[in-house]
Amino acid sequence: MSDHDATRDICLRRSPSECSDCSIKDRIECRFRRRSLLRFFLTFLVCIIPAFAGVILAGYGWFIVGWIIYMALFLQVWENRILCSHCPYYAEEGTTLRCHANYGLRKLWKYQPGPMSRWERLQFVLGLILIVAYPLPFMILGGQYLLFGITCLTILIFLAILSTQMCVHCMNFSCPLNRVPKAVIDTFLRQNPPMKKAWEEAGYKLDPE
Ligand code: SF4
Ligand code: SF4
Repeated sequence: MSDHDATRDICLRRSPSECSDCSIKDRIECRFRRRSLLRFFLTFLVCIIPAFAGVILAGYGWFIVGWIIYMALFLQVWENRILCSHCPYYAEEGTTLRCHANYGLRKLWKYQPGPMSRWERLQFVLGLILIVAYPLPFMILGGQYLLFGITCLTILIFLAILSTQMCVHCMNFSCPLNRVPKAVIDTFLRQNPPMKKAWEEAGYKLDPE
């Protein structure tokens, strides 16, 4: 079986008629929805604006360039490999992602139906911490305590929205932030033989039906 054929049964590609009697159709976000992308983008924007303002007013505006370059490289190259290449959205046809978070980014790597490894999860968490933490020291050094506080608050709100609204429905089940219940994951895997096989080969055990 070719690599292309190996991704054919990923659920994302099912026709609407096959989905109508699916028991988990309301439990996971298996179709791209514009409103989810808008929600993600707006929540991210609310975090970024006070952080940008804080770093600039602190007198370290030029350091924002390094932050933007790092974020671009992280999202397009590093995260693309360690996180997104394991996501069913990555198995869709086409050369760009169409999902609620990284819409429009190129798929640079080969789709991997198996789960993220421990090492990939660790890298993802470290990469995220670096994005979040980058602007904070500059605000402290420049005495922008109010904007520092507002930025921390918006980051917490962002994480809360992510965790309660998005991670509970996200199809990338092996992401360290994912909160989809195991029963739903098992049902999804049973409907997607190539993914189930790759997960079982990686040591995942499905509960008995
Ligand atoms: S999980 Fe698969 S079968 Fe169920 S609704 Fe989503 S795409 Fe359709
Ligand atoms: S849903 Fe998340 S893990 Fe999946 S492709 Fe989009 S950003 Fe990557």
